[in-house]
Amino acid sequence: MIILKSTIELNNWFIENLNGLEENLGFVPTMGALHMGHASLIERAARECEIVVVSILVNPTQFNEKADLQSYPRTLENDVIVAEKAGGTILFTPTPEDIYGGTPSAEKVDYGPITSAFEGLSRQGHFDGVVSVVDKLFMAVRPNRAYFGTKDLQQVAVVERMSNERHPKIQIVSCKLIRDENGLALSSRNTRLSDTGIILAQNISQELQSVVDRVKDGLDVNDSVEIAKKKLKNLKGLELEYISGVNYKTFSISTENHGRSHIIIAASVEGIRLIDNIEL
Ligand code: AMP
Repeated sequence: MIILKSTIELNNWFIENLNGLEENLGFVPTMGALHMGHASLIERAARECEIVVVSILVNPTQFNEKADLQSYPRTLENDVIVAEKAGGTILFTPTPEDIYGGTPSAEKVDYGPITSAFEGLSRQGHFDGVVSVVDKLFMAVRPNRAYFGTKDLQQVAVVERMSNERHPKIQIVSCKLIRDENGLALSSRNTRLSDTGIILAQNISQELQSVVDRVKDGLDVNDSVEIAKKKLKNLKGLELEYISGVNYKTFSISTENHGRSHIIIAASVEGIRLIDNIEL
């Protein structure tokens, strides 16, 4: 795998090597600390594209808490191994200053509930940062297809909207959420959980599954969510932020049990914020 550390290096590599392959270029943007969730995106991109660019950039503008940014795991040596094994062609590791063309900053974005509700409400400015960095990365990489995980379901909706408006030629490919053998959604932040924390965090996916099971048995979506809410609120050491049925395209609250409905959740364990979701 080729490691390119700046937009200039990436551009030069493209000029010398693309020779028509730009017609079939896949892109997987990440913040590093790669795990099998990231690998699944890279593998899919490698199946569908000639060239796969994987970027690693811990984007300061999408962090609403400085401590979270500072403690975000950085594991470049291992990332090279994971990205290469999954089929990445290029690992692109620019600095924030390079991508932003100076001090990183993000313009305000208002796409209605998809930027203002749930994650947008809990993490003020988060999606401004996501939109800014993905927009700038798209300009640098100029992919045909870009791969995003439904682990970050609301982010997919935001990126689709931004891309429709600013990069209509780029196809956004949304990819399946990958879990560990106990159901916990894989996340770079999981490495910061203790063994006890991991066991506690497993309640998140277990309760999501229970919501779905009860709805399948005929219970109303709201009632099923309320049962999970009560259970999670009673768990010592887990702080529930929200759990709700939503339409995954609009992020308006939904009590439908079919079509575009998902149950989304955010909770903290040992001060680590975790998100998850499940299709109804
Ligand atoms: P991140 O490094 O957390 O910014 O994630 C980079 C990309 O990987 C995003 O599109 C995420 O949605 C995706 N991703 C992270 N975790 C998972 C997972 N467990 N399953 C699928 N995709 C994931």
